[in-house]
Amino acid sequence: MALNQSGWRPEMNAGGADDSTTFTGNRALMLEEPLLFEIGSTETTGVDFDEDTAAADLGPLARSAPIGLPGLSESETVRHYTRLSRQNYAIDLGLFPLGSCTMKHNPRLNEKVARMPGFADVHPLQPQETVQGAYAVIHELAEWLVTLTGMHAVAMSPKAGAHGELCGVLCIKAALAARGEDRRVLLVPESAHGTNPATAAFAGFTVEDIPANAEGRVDLAALEARLGPDVAGVMITNPNTCGLFERDLKAISDAVHAAGGYVYCDGANFNAIVGRVRPGDLGVDAMHINLHKTFSTPHGGGGPGSGPVVLSAALAPFAPLPFVTKDGDRFRLIEEENADEAHPDSFGRMTAFHGQMGMFTRALAYILSHGADGLKQVSEDAVINANYVLRNLQDLLDAPFAASGPCMHEALFSDKGLAEGFSTLDIAKGLIDEGYHPMTVYFPLVVHGAMLIEPTETESKAVLDQFIGALRSIALRAKNGDPALKSAPHFAPRARLDETLAARKPVLRWEG
Ligand SMILES: *Cc1c(COP(=O)(O)O)cnc(C)c1O
Repeated sequence: MALNQSGWRPEMNAGGADDSTTFTGNRALMLEEPLLFEIGSTETTGVDFDEDTAAADLGPLARSAPIGLPGLSESETVRHYTRLSRQNYAIDLGLFPLGSCTMKHNPRLNEKVARMPGFADVHPLQPQETVQGAYAVIHELAEWLVTLTGMHAVAMSPKAGAHGELCGVLCIKAALAARGEDRRVLLVPESAHGTNPATAAFAGFTVEDIPANAEGRVDLAALEARLGPDVAGVMITNPNTCGLFERDLKAISDAVHAAGGYVYCDGANFNAIVGRVRPGDLGVDAMHINLHKTFSTPHGGGGPGSGPVVLSAALAPFAPLPFVTKDGDRFRLIEEENADEAHPDSFGRMTAFHGQMGMFTRALAYILSHGADGLKQVSEDAVINANYVLRNLQDLLDAPFAASGPCMHEALFSDKGLAEGFSTLDIAKGLIDEGYHPMTVYFPLVVHGAMLIEPTETESKAVLDQFIGALRSIALRAKNGDPALKSAPHFAPRARLDETLAARKPVLRWEG
């Protein structure tokens, strides 16, 4: 609620704070914060410029009229943004149940390593002999990724999952061109992450759906029936977005290869199978790995992604430049200037330089601190945690694929069985009052009113039990039709917003 300049609101005349309001609008340590435009003034500033010197330095570029932005003193500015930041939710505050996102704890060790001057302060244009250590990190991480996936090579430079998809699909395109074939269709299952069809279309392919079977997996017979000389390949997410392992992937790969196509695997969910399954053994030709999901590098608002792409022997010759190679005990870059001898068939470049160095150091720190046995345990624990959530909620929330066997790293529920007029959105909003970020809602599209929950391996049983308790209580309220749930959240700084209106008619200008 907006305060006027003095923080006083007319309704307070009646006697100040009662049980539900306070003079300030604050609720104990949850501080209400007006907009900068409401509390700042064009007359106030936290810095004291010598206007003549500034103007002299800027010359003709100096501003001729005041810009009219509100200012605050330094301490008020710091408080404003700190208060706003406290209205946020973060992985360091509590469990993040988002499915299809893998919001992992970011170990502090990773951060320490990434900030070491030898990694943080190097520049991609430095002479190669001065950055041998950084190249060694890229090379060692690349070897881990190739070993863990059982693939032939890896392109390290793509900067996110979707960017990695583009890299893999461009490799497929280049391989087809080298064979002199013009195959236009990429088959993508209904349950695919939205980036898959988007990538295929962006790379110039025509996207065709493959249906899912009743179990929530790719319908093998339907896929085989569609293969032919116009099909460039398939893009399959494994484990898929219903949280299920695609058991037929080897049969799918064999059929696609026999028909002359390539297999792209979306490996964003690799954290569910790392150390247990090698996609190379399943006939995969290209797969991106989200370092920011599987290997614990910051994610979402927290930092840039990184999406290295592992490649089969068939696609490796087309991988992008530049990349690090090892000669004896020295590392060097293969770039356009020297690619002719070493890597003549590359499709080109994905990024200006070598990729996300900060993510590489974090991912390698995570891998080395876990070791091979630790990584195997990561996937086991992630799967056990998701199954614990699934089995402790399936009596209250409809779990459409609970009968398809254990889930992988995420548990999927639908809105079936809620009271008339109650929806997935009400459950998500109720979770905010309980102090949790909501789970992923309305995705995947194959399930009505989907709720997708991924706890990750880092959450303890005690944390899961509290989350399950909160969700059970909200699910019961939604089944019993508790009207208060329809207007949740009640304890958040802002109550239920009209998100559709906000998206369709955003108000982007402050008019005081
Ligand atoms: C997160 C995710 C992606 C996209 O990764 P970005 O790094 O966000 O581009 C693709 N596929 C699946 C299954 C994902 O979970």
